[in-house]
Amino acid sequence: MKQVITAVVKDKRGRVLAVGQNSYTRTHPLQAWAARKVGQPERIYLHAEVAALIKCNWEEAHSIFISRWNKDGKPMKAAPCACCMEVIKKAGIKRVTHT
Ligand SMILES: [Zn+2]
Repeated sequence: MKQVITAVVKDKRGRVLAVGQNSYTRTHPLQAWAARKVGQPERIYLHAEVAALIKCNWEEAHSIFISRWNKDGKPMKAAPCACCMEVIKKAGIKRVTHT
């Protein structure tokens, strides 16, 4: 089943810089870079975290919040995968929180 995952990147004052959602069709060179780096080169489709981080200035980006909800509106575990952790580190994000 296709799941929607949402990532919100904020600056250090808590202002939203970018929002991203995962995609099963869109790719991006940064996603491909991270996928290769963690030895899972087939994971080229955009993850929410990468989708958000490609839309904002990394100098300002301070925190990321990742969430996933089931059809009843209950929070589901949305910890970043190894690929996304690489990108989160590369972007210099200081705080990672998730459902
Ligand atoms: Zn990921």
